[in-house]
Amino acid sequence: MSKNMLKFVSLDKKMPEKREAALRREDFQEIYDEFSSQKAKEQASRCSQCGIPFCQVHCPVQNNIPDWLSLTANGRLEEAYEMSQATNNLPEICGRICPQDRLCEGSCVIEKSFDSVTIGAVEKYITDTAWEKGWVKPNAPRQELDQSVAVIGAGPGGLAAADELRKKGYQVHVYDRYDRVGGLLVYGIPSFKLEKDVVERRAKLLADGGVTFHMNFEVGKDASFAELREKHDAVIIAMGVYKARDITLPGSGLGGIVPALQYLTSSNRVGLGDTVAEFDSGELNAEGKNVVVIGGGDTAMDCVRTAIRQGAKSVKCLYRRDRKNMPGSLRETTNAEEEGVEFVWLSAPKAFLGDEKVNGVKAIEMHLGIADSTGRQVPVEIKGSEHNIPCDLAIKALGFDPEDVPALFDEPALEVSRWGTIQADPVTAMTNLEGVYAVGDIVRGASLVVWAIRDGRDAAASVDTYLATASQKSLAS
Ligand code: FAD
Ligand code: SF4
Ligand code: SF4
Repeated sequence: MSKNMLKFVSLDKKMPEKREAALRREDFQEIYDEFSSQKAKEQASRCSQCGIPFCQVHCPVQNNIPDWLSLTANGRLEEAYEMSQATNNLPEICGRICPQDRLCEGSCVIEKSFDSVTIGAVEKYITDTAWEKGWVKPNAPRQELDQSVAVIGAGPGGLAAADELRKKGYQVHVYDRYDRVGGLLVYGIPSFKLEKDVVERRAKLLADGGVTFHMNFEVGKDASFAELREKHDAVIIAMGVYKARDITLPGSGLGGIVPALQYLTSSNRVGLGDTVAEFDSGELNAEGKNVVVIGGGDTAMDCVRTAIRQGAKSVKCLYRRDRKNMPGSLRETTNAEEEGVEFVWLSAPKAFLGDEKVNGVKAIEMHLGIADSTGRQVPVEIKGSEHNIPCDLAIKALGFDPEDVPALFDEPALEVSRWGTIQADPVTAMTNLEGVYAVGDIVRGASLVVWAIRDGRDAAASVDTYLATASQKSLAS
């Protein structure tokens, strides 16, 4: 047994200090402070070093959690960092934004009687320290290979794949239609969960290690998919899902009703110093407004908390099920409540009210009826319970679907599921097209950063096998 462990019996679980809600409302900075080195050691030492670590089993990248906790508890941070980065390409990002209560920490066995180990915060601490100390170095492959790989999309899935392939010496070209690297890490997730310089330094690290980024480059427009296949030896599609789900209600066409990602992207751009006309005109700015956000997922939580920071007069979140049944993380809901968001549980919109611009939402109360085939109770309207909620900005956060990829890429042979997600082999990540792989949200549907990383790593390993076999065949012939 490692020294200095099993302290869960004498030490309570502590998260890093959370800034006061009143202060958080005033800016877009992350809400948790960093652990002090003493606190990180203490919290890591609570781990009981399980023989079968369920935390690791339920971590999508299968991080070697007990070992890096033990190294941290014993002050061997550089080794902890080496171990942690061996399984995760973006550990400080996962440490910040993984829904740990549903993954590693939710599976920590000491949680049954004691609070779980604070795994995510320690992971963040290890890697932030590694950056500070200069232990994080760009890739320097032992050999340069001639073969090149195109990665479509610079989100976490694409970045993880690019990193792994570059380590092996492949020439990696990442194409993205945005102007900045990071996908939803930059333009979806707000900086109070993930500050943007954390993503920027990763992008620079990859570029310094030889990954070539082609930004403002939309595949299907600036080059065809066929051209990319022709130019590169393999292609990985990591393009995410961006088609916002919609609701059609009376008044849906009024001004002041906006999709969530448009609203969040504008806020993130403003935070990065860009000029956004729709923000300046007030269309995508919640300042002084009564805001209603429709939806109960993590995107809805990000919208309500952004609106609070923009200085909204009131912020309400309308969700048709109850707190227990909402898809968003409980931790984020609590953060939102602390910051002044009002949740209107068991409530659904019936109409948007107003002449040209929205000035209210007609809502109806719901109750949870019998469960459907998925086991989830179906929300049922309560007759006569309609009521109006004042609203000058309505934000629709109802989820995302994939775009029509075969049409977008002019590649009708590319197989997609009935939901439009790309069909990729669960083991190799290869699609039905030779040498074409797919990872992340475009395969899973809207999911999590850590799953995109896992997919990117798996696809990179498969591409390596595929290309190594191809080069052996060409040598033999
Ligand atoms: P993305 O991150 O979407 O990246 C895809 C990239 O592909 C984009 O940069 C896009 O510009 C590019 N692209 C698309 N089409 C083309 C094209 N034709 N040509 C070139 N480039 C193209 N997950 C968590 O784990 N924790 C969270 O707290 C969390 N919060 C979230 C908050 C919001 C508001 C949203 C929307 C999602 C959140 N998620 C969160 C989910 C997470 O962001 C995604 O699961 C993850 O980013 C998916 O990674 P990806 O690489 O598959 O795609
Ligand atoms: Fe937990 Fe996510 Fe880190 Fe895995 S990657 S240990 S799930 S925070
Ligand atoms: Fe440690 Fe909890 Fe993982 Fe067990 S499940 S190894 S106690 S972090």
